[in-house]
Amino acid sequence: MKKREFLKLTGIMGAGMVVSPFLACSSSDASSEHAGDDQATPNAAAPSVIEFTLPALGYAFDALAPRIDAMTMEIHHGKHHAGYVKKLNAALAESEGFGGMEIDQILDQVTPDQTAIRNNGGGHFNHTLFWQIIAPGGASAPEGALAAAIDAGFGSYDAFMDEFARAAKTRFGSGWAWLCVDENKKLFVMSTPNQDNPLMTNIVERTGMPILGIDVWEHAYYLNYQNRRGDYITAFMELVNWTQVGELYAVAMS
Ligand code: MN
Repeated sequence: MKKREFLKLTGIMGAGMVVSPFLACSSSDASSEHAGDDQATPNAAAPSVIEFTLPALGYAFDALAPRIDAMTMEIHHGKHHAGYVKKLNAALAESEGFGGMEIDQILDQVTPDQTAIRNNGGGHFNHTLFWQIIAPGGASAPEGALAAAIDAGFGSYDAFMDEFARAAKTRFGSGWAWLCVDENKKLFVMSTPNQDNPLMTNIVERTGMPILGIDVWEHAYYLNYQNRRGDYITAFMELVNWTQVGELYAVAMS
């Protein structure tokens, strides 16, 4: 895993249109400068935990309508995501061993029994990514290296869409489906329950760098779609910002 590298590389590009979900997760705290080491530094004058903030949505609540309605967006961002951030900060303040860690490090280190950090740290990262990879108008299709990788990995774009949609549809209860880049730089689809994600080394069966994720919690779609999760998945796929996903793919591959 080259999460540090992913973070740093994306950070370099971050001033432009690509904003890493890792960086977007963090506060503007300038003291969280990294020396590039992967190791946590427990004990010994442990640095204070980073206080995370809710990132701006980047577009209007109604910008994705009618595929995703304005009230769903407003509640999802302003209540659900904000709640994860608030509870994450509260949990970190009462924890030990997460001092100075950015969100990717926290997710890498968190253990199954650290429920509050697991759920709310995952919730913060997952939603930060989610807002970025959907956009008004969406995009037509993956391009360039990502398009080629999808064809190579899944057979075709349509075959990928089928597998991704199936993962989203069959996730029982609440959770997410993901398109990830694995350690061998191969694409794969997976799903996780609740707010788990493929960065949680101590929790998921297979780790990877998520570049696309769909939230299939009912709060993401119930106002508009009620129990019709499949219709929501179809609408989501029409909103995917493949340009942004392609940028994240490029960084994951570099
Ligand atoms: Mn959600």
